[in-house]
Amino acid sequence: MNVVVVGGGMVGASAAVSIAKLGHHVTVIEAGKTVLSEGDWDLRISSIHLRNVEWLKELGTWSNIRAERKFMYTDLAVQTLDGYRLNFSNNDVDALALGAMVENNALQEALWEQFSEHNISVYSETRVEHFDLTDRRVRLSNGEILTYDLLLGADGAQSQVAKAAQIGQRGWDYDMRCMLAIADVEKPLPAATWEIFRSEGPFALLPLNDHLACLIDYRSEQQWQEFTGKNEAVQQSLNNVFEPHIGKHTITQFASFPLRRQRALRYISHDSIALIGDAAHSIHPLAGQGVNLGFADVQELTRQLVEQPLPEALAKYERIRMQENQQMMRAMDAIHVGFRSQHLLPRGLLALGLALVDKVAPLKRELVRKAIGF
Ligand SMILES: Cc1cc2nc3c(=O)[nH]c(=O)nc-3n(C[C@H](O)[C@H](O)[C@H](O)COP(=O)(O)OP(=O)(O)OC[C@H]3O[C@@H](n4cnc5c(N)ncnc54)[C@H](O)[C@@H]3O)c2cc1C
Repeated sequence: MNVVVVGGGMVGASAAVSIAKLGHHVTVIEAGKTVLSEGDWDLRISSIHLRNVEWLKELGTWSNIRAERKFMYTDLAVQTLDGYRLNFSNNDVDALALGAMVENNALQEALWEQFSEHNISVYSETRVEHFDLTDRRVRLSNGEILTYDLLLGADGAQSQVAKAAQIGQRGWDYDMRCMLAIADVEKPLPAATWEIFRSEGPFALLPLNDHLACLIDYRSEQQWQEFTGKNEAVQQSLNNVFEPHIGKHTITQFASFPLRRQRALRYISHDSIALIGDAAHSIHPLAGQGVNLGFADVQELTRQLVEQPLPEALAKYERIRMQENQQMMRAMDAIHVGFRSQHLLPRGLLALGLALVDKVAPLKRELVRKAIGF
């Protein structure tokens, strides 16, 4: 089978490797330049849960990721507006870790390094100029024409493939921005990630090594806009938020990203097209699930391609993944709204729920297993 993957980000590149391993001929079309992981940690970092770490090992990718751009963490904590704190640990589920922090560029680079090994053709700085969905052909910006049996849209939230296939999208802006910063921290950091909820939005820490962290501060667009062009004020604001929790630290770089929720109304089309990753669903990053869901899409699609002919495989892929992704999107919205609520009733219910989870070991174990993807 000829498979064309539009978009060579983390999800598209992993799909290319996973499907090429089945023996299919795969071509990746990427609009951007070849990504390299160089210099200091890039700000775009993903928390990859344990199940996907295991899958990346099976794929042969994990050992390719630069050692200094991945960091396993063993603990995770969530704290509510009212100071209730729930801690999860690898010991709750008898695992070696809960997951890993990985630089997006390093992960993408590691996947691309596998392309030659699996005879995957790749065109970077190239786009599709024309889609002929009936004859299953695409004309590229370099003039080449490729035929396909399966066309994968892995081209992110503004998916050109979704538009070409006339797949509608539904979504909204959260009217929030997420400020990301890399900080050198004086005191040693445990291998623990945590998130603290406030009425403005949560703030969180991702450990990158024992003296380096990614700091995340979610606030309304308007609040962050007031800081436009005032770099020292941003650093001061981040210091005020994080110093009580991590002590003295120096911020070396920062940038902010708008938050948007979006979902495709269909994941498949023409018995030959499938959307995967952010092209199908882009989700609030507060629980670090976006690329994890994308990797789950790839695993499901690969499984279905092994088990049945293409049209049936695509239909089953859509049925399974759409349901799971939508459940996760609804859960993120509930957390986004519920954990910020100033009303006493939801706050009381939340405190009760957390106390219950903390006291009932099987319930806690089940929650941790869900968080690490099992
Ligand atoms: C602030 C923030 C923090 C996050 N943290 C986490 C986290 O901790 N854990 C987690 O799981 N997720 C996280 N996410 C989500 C995660 O980053 C995304 O879900 C993930 O990057 C999606 O990968 P993708 O490959 O589907 O899409 P993208 O990363 O958007 O990649 C799409 C690729 O397609 C290319 N492309 C676009 N258009 C075209 C075209 N027309 N033709 C050819 N190529 C094209 C792009 O250049 C790009 O390489 C976070 C997101 C944000 C914003």
